Amino acid sequence: MAKVAKGHVEPLPSGSFRVSVYAGVDPLTRQEIRLRSTVKDERLAQIELGRLLKEASEGRTPDADATVARLLKEYAAIAEWDVSTRQTNEGFIRRTIKPALGHLEVRKVRGPILDKLYTRLKRCGDLSCTGKPFTEHRKVPILAISRGDSRPAWQQVSDMLAEAIRSGNLAPGDELPSITELSALQGIGTGVIRHAIRHLAADGLITIQHGRATLVAGKLISEGPGRWRPGPGHDCRLAGCRPHVCHPMKPNTIRGIHGILSGAFAAAQRWEWIDRNPAESAKPPTAIRRTIPATSPEAVAKVIAEARRRNSALGLYLWLVVVTGVRRGELCGLQVRDIHLDQGLVHIAFNYVVRGGKHVRKDTKTHQDRWLAIDPDTCALITAHLDEIRTALAEVGVEVAEDAYLFSNDPAHARPWNPDWATHKVADTADAVGVELDIKGGRHYTASQLLAGGFDLRNTAARLGHSGGGATTLRHYADPVPEVDRRAAAYLARLTAGSSTANG
Ligand SMILES: [Zn+2]
Ligand SMILES: [Zn+2]
Repeated sequence: MAKVAKGHVEPLPSGSFRVSVYAGVDPLTRQEIRLRSTVKDERLAQIELGRLLKEASEGRTPDADATVARLLKEYAAIAEWDVSTRQTNEGFIRRTIKPALGHLEVRKVRGPILDKLYTRLKRCGDLSCTGKPFTEHRKVPILAISRGDSRPAWQQVSDMLAEAIRSGNLAPGDELPSITELSALQGIGTGVIRHAIRHLAADGLITIQHGRATLVAGKLISEGPGRWRPGPGHDCRLAGCRPHVCHPMKPNTIRGIHGILSGAFAAAQRWEWIDRNPAESAKPPTAIRRTIPATSPEAVAKVIAEARRRNSALGLYLWLVVVTGVRRGELCGLQVRDIHLDQGLVHIAFNYVVRGGKHVRKDTKTHQDRWLAIDPDTCALITAHLDEIRTALAEVGVEVAEDAYLFSNDPAHARPWNPDWATHKVADTADAVGVELDIKGGRHYTASQLLAGGFDLRNTAARLGHSGGGATTLRHYADPVPEVDRRAAAYLARLTAGSSTANG
């Protein structure tokens, strides 16, 4: 370990090096500030150490030549993003914005630079693509098993992969092909590869993610905008390299990137790093409107009828999707205490999301907490559902808890439906009756039918929990639900139920 006055370099099991520098004490929290970074080899580590020491000695006060990478880091730390937005935005920053603009000085960024970036992304989302044909080389080491070797086959594969990681041919964050693909490409049994991968995971060299690609362990090293170039011994056939196919980035995605940049540069302006926001003079591509027609009330009613036939809870779930316009996770997060049948109100306070196998009850209180009117018919359906739960629980001598979930496969209703499961069930039901409808489509139905029925946009947006003027205005009303939302509730119920009787 090379000790320097205020920083040090530490080798990691993956073969990379972690550089850590002491940068004083945070004036607010009184906690130590450490600047950290991970690089591939010892030489880069010394360069990085010098850079971080310089950054530390300059203190946290922004200097004139602060880069976009630094701005994004400081902006992301203070941005008010909810869990899923943060995940999305940090992905854009890591994959696209930082490789493209990270090295630029904030004050040198001008509108035309951003316009140029947007134009390039519109042609191809791969920043290294110039429009000319090229081969997308994949970082797949060659795994040859030698019969003369005394080590078992899996050990040989494991050693070869470990060597590729140690030598830097595979870097932290690099994805490995799936076991089946690797086996097909290099003619090695899946069992052998699986054993080797498990062994490397146990050693901490590889991270196995359930249902996703296996990664080389360690913090992702940003490689800049350049393309990875294969070294000697690379074999395109065994690695499964393919010619590059351009994937244009969607206008809405580019608008999302523009949104992040606008926010970051606006912050830089507030912090007096720059005088004007370059994003204001840049123009992202125009968003394409969704032109898919909303499902008809008859078709929606058909799916609800089929859902009811299969499972009364599923029928109620889908009914609530269309009459409340609530998101799937918000419905899964609904608890007994959120239902106010006497007042004809439902309180949407949580969004239940499952991400990377983790169950999160996102508190939407600050953002999307809202009260929705429900009509008497819907109240009756919920009452029947609650009675069913109550009866089932009474048989085992248990009362329904206030925090019991309305939709649950668990006897005590302590765990809600997984939103993915609900999506799957709804899609399956719609398929069975030949209607194209999913939960998002249900919300689309709610919105378009309300607008077609003459309800104003602001109220409709509020019902759907869309952020913006409408929802904010509603929150400040003394009566949490304006008259028009009562009418909206009754209208949707009538429209959907009417079609169901018309259909038989
Ligand atoms: Zn190749
Ligand atoms: Zn391309």
